[in-house]
Amino acid sequence: MKHTSPLKAKSTLCVHEGQQPDAYRGINTPIFTSTSYGYLDTEERLYPRYFNIPNQKVIIEKLAALENAQNGLVFGSGMAAVSTTLLSFLNKGDHCIFQNGLYGGTLHFVNEEFSRFGLEYTILKNNNPETFRSALKKNTKIIYIESPSNPLLSIVDLEEISKMCRKHQCISVIDNTFASPINQNPIDLGIDIVIHSATKYLGGHSDISAGAVLSSNQYISRITQSSLSFGGSLNAIMCHLLERSLKTLSIRVERQNQNAGVLAEYLYKKREIDRVYYPGLKTHAGYEIAKRQMTGFGGMLSFELKTQDINTFQKKLQLIKPAMSLGGIESTICAPVTTSHRLVSREEQEAEGIRENLLRLSVGIEDAGDLIRDIEQAL
Ligand SMILES: *Cc1c(COP(=O)(O)O)cnc(C)c1O
Repeated sequence: MKHTSPLKAKSTLCVHEGQQPDAYRGINTPIFTSTSYGYLDTEERLYPRYFNIPNQKVIIEKLAALENAQNGLVFGSGMAAVSTTLLSFLNKGDHCIFQNGLYGGTLHFVNEEFSRFGLEYTILKNNNPETFRSALKKNTKIIYIESPSNPLLSIVDLEEISKMCRKHQCISVIDNTFASPINQNPIDLGIDIVIHSATKYLGGHSDISAGAVLSSNQYISRITQSSLSFGGSLNAIMCHLLERSLKTLSIRVERQNQNAGVLAEYLYKKREIDRVYYPGLKTHAGYEIAKRQMTGFGGMLSFELKTQDINTFQKKLQLIKPAMSLGGIESTICAPVTTSHRLVSREEQEAEGIRENLLRLSVGIEDAGDLIRDIEQAL
């Protein structure tokens, strides 16, 4: 299922790519609800858990086109995509390198499950290329990164990592959730496997739980083999909702990029705010790399409140909703220590640089002026 239309713009791919025909000439892909498909006179064996039913294919074709991948898989959650991908490649005794500043759920998965399977891992103290290099071992199989990371938006040089992986013959995996395929295409920079929590920007309306993996035919074929047993597939109705969401992905993300840029500049100038983390700010440690490898800086930013208690501040907000998760059309805000990184120990939170007064803002598609006025009155 190779991506066949590389000349089309992303906004066009979002709307049209992968669409399946309707026997009644309707212009939308029908929802093919069957879990049972005929098998005579065909080699095809369609079944939801085989990741090959029509509505799943629509999503894969669209996302593969957007990420310049040959193929992919769509899962019931981002963590199903993360865990299935890692466990598809790792054998007992293998070693994995994880960057500093991982999504809390991924960190929890690694810390809780890896030792049970005899898997070795190193979680880095910082994301300098030398730190990655010095963590490499003979048995290193995977380097796993997340750029921009959650919640501090730290940036890793993707080309550097992909070169390192080629040289040491290990697999590079990126969680590209925060960037979305609109702002960053890691496969073009040599990364082997791209993962998305589709619950976030791809879904975009805070009403779908899904995940995706995009890669070469060879790697997807390996992951598919394990996926059949792990069983984390996405059902047809959710695929339909996700297809509808993906049609507006590029315009949503473009607006979110713009709004987040405006808000970051505003917050940076406020006395009441300590640090602002946004890769589009020239003061951000990863700004130069982000500028090189991303086409937009994204809709996520974090900041530290200097004086006010973070719960009081959040309760005063009238437009921005204090809520978990991210990537929706509505702006939401949360404190990572009590939400995404709740299951991570205090020491690890500190090692990652996540302070108690940190707030993570997922900027929506509202009017930027209205969002600023909301923050202004709460401060
Ligand atoms: C939310 C998230 C995940 C996990 O996705 P789920 O859909 O919640 O399973 C993984 N990585 C990142 C960066 C996320 O934000």
